[in-house]
Amino acid sequence: MDRMGEAPLCILCRRHPVSERWRPFCSERCRNEDLARWAEGRYSVPGEPVHGPDAEIDEHPDTESTKDG
Ligand SMILES: [Zn+2]
Repeated sequence: MDRMGEAPLCILCRRHPVSERWRPFCSERCRNEDLARWAEGRYSVPGEPVHGPDAEIDEHPDTESTKDG
């Protein structure tokens, strides 16, 4: 069974107990950091090419590093 009684820890740093004001974080700092990370993940979208389901990858034994640009 899960033990109850102990205050949950900050979901970001996992070191300090969650503050009622900043839950589920321990402080405004952790909250802001989480938001920042979230925003970063949103903005930095990896430009991965969309491969179709029928796309077959041809692996060449001798891979030459092509110059980009
Ligand atoms: Zn924290």
